[in-house]
Amino acid sequence: MRLILLGPPGAGKGTQAQGLADHFDIVHISTGDMFRGAIKNQTPLGLKAKAFLDEGELVPDDVTIGIVKERLEKNDCDRGFLLDGFPRTLIQAETLTEMLANLGKPLDGAININVDRIKLMARLTGRRICRHCGAAYHIVFNPPPKEGECGKCGGPLYQRDDDNEATCENRLNVYESQTAPLIEYYAGQEILHNIQGDQEIDKVFADILAAVTPQ
Ligand code: ADP
Ligand code: ADP
Ligand code: ZN
Repeated sequence: MRLILLGPPGAGKGTQAQGLADHFDIVHISTGDMFRGAIKNQTPLGLKAKAFLDEGELVPDDVTIGIVKERLEKNDCDRGFLLDGFPRTLIQAETLTEMLANLGKPLDGAININVDRIKLMARLTGRRICRHCGAAYHIVFNPPPKEGECGKCGGPLYQRDDDNEATCENRLNVYESQTAPLIEYYAGQEILHNIQGDQEIDKVFADILAAVTPQ
């Protein structure tokens, strides 16, 4: 199974990704996680990416495409993969199509999770992330069993630097102008699945499975 997760920041891509990767036994590839890891470790990639993440702007296509290409060429992707947060521009999408055609691994589906903008702001500004396992929580909509502590691994929760109001506004604008056009692109390839993201987390998951599982 080879899938991509589309949808605005805060739609629930990360929340759904791990369950989907486990269910299909495929590799979860999150460009956002890759950039945050590189920034934390102060690698050359992290130094290049930091200013863009801080502003809520997209990291340049050549940099982003480079790291995804490298990742997709690894052997573990033979069993399938789930791209979370990539592609985000038309150039990324077109390059991905070409890249996967060359590898003989075309996409099986593009899952587009829809949520209203007002809800997205509330989701993003209340999001908390586990420092150890990366699980996402929400202070109101999806609180951890114990405040400030991950229910899966016990790790401490933190708020991402870019989950402040000003940066979130910008990220949502960037999504509208640069990423939303991909919905048309994948509809044209006849692999798009639109999912209502404003439902309970388990219901969203069930809808995604029903959409991508062959009848
Ligand atoms: P994305 O990866 O698309 O940016 P996340 O998966 O990190 O989104 O989710 C954003 C925030 O919304 C998190 O705080 C998460 O706990 C919360 N969230 C995710 N799915 C739902 C849902 N179905 N209902 C309510 N809140 C949700
Ligand atoms: P969210 O889903 O909450 O927007 P992500 O973790 O997917 O967050 O992305 C965080 C940031 O990483 C983005 O705001 C952007 O700066 C950078 N980023 C992630 N994926 C891409 C991509 N495909 N192209 C360019 N920049 C990206
Ligand atoms: Zn954890």
